[in-house]
Amino acid sequence: MKVVTNNLKFNQKLNEMREYAKLNHVPIINDDGLSILKTIIALYKPKNILEIGTAIGYSASIMSMTSDSTVYTIERDEVMYNEAKKNISDLNLDGKVNIIFDDALNSFDKLSDKKFDMIFIDAAKAQYTKFFELYTPLLNKGGIVVCDNMYFHNLVNSDLESLSKNVRNMVKKLQMFHEFLLNNENYETSIFDIGDGISISISK
Ligand code: SAH
Ligand code: MG
Repeated sequence: MKVVTNNLKFNQKLNEMREYAKLNHVPIINDDGLSILKTIIALYKPKNILEIGTAIGYSASIMSMTSDSTVYTIERDEVMYNEAKKNISDLNLDGKVNIIFDDALNSFDKLSDKKFDMIFIDAAKAQYTKFFELYTPLLNKGGIVVCDNMYFHNLVNSDLESLSKNVRNMVKKLQMFHEFLLNNENYETSIFDIGDGISISISK
């Protein structure tokens, strides 16, 4: 009975978070992306997950609940950080989901004593290669790196000339990240046309 009550509360809270995200244009993972993310976690059963890009703590909370793992997640925006903190506390996930308020490119030292079975990259698209290079030294052997928004609303496959300069630069960097991943001999990578594009890289 207790479990049912908890699940109900959890689902209610997740609904609220989705509503907030919609109203405030927060780009939380979409339902298809979430579905594959949950499947990966159910199959792989990571004990420690690092997420780059918390936003309101939506994916972090679900990852923690799905796998019974400890999640460390990094967010640089103060409004998002505060919202995530509140949500995680409402869900009774304090200690299971740990938020680091900082730019991920500056927070390596705060995590360098930890090891992860899974890294989920879901922050500034132009920085994916940097995030990958910075944090994969903390990945256990056989660990996985999952990235969201690999197709970035399909702009990755669009005519670059039709895009504004800023978007074009970002898309170019994301394309370079595709190449980087697919040519990286230390990882077996697949990029799936699910959600907004999800990649899975398994370290060899
Ligand atoms: N993973 C979340 C969505 C994250 S949206 C979910 O699906 O529920 C991307 C978030 O990454 C934004 O909140 C943005 O502020 C944050 N972000 C972008 N670049 C970052 C960086 N370099 N360091 C830390 N956070 C970053
Ligand atoms: Mg995303």
